[in-house]
Amino acid sequence: MDECPADAISEGEDIFVIDPEKCTDCGACAEVCPNESISET
Ligand code: SF4
Repeated sequence: MDECPADAISEGEDIFVIDPEKCTDCGACAEVCPNESISET
């Protein structure tokens, strides 16, 4: 969440959610993700 410049990541009930309408595909979250849960497609 802290890494996202577009404020697209929010905490859901048991998972974090990325809002595709806010996400700019900058890749910052994927770069800092320690277990590669986020990947660019
Ligand atoms: S790629 Fe990740 S850090 Fe960048 S805008 Fe999208 S959700 Fe946020």
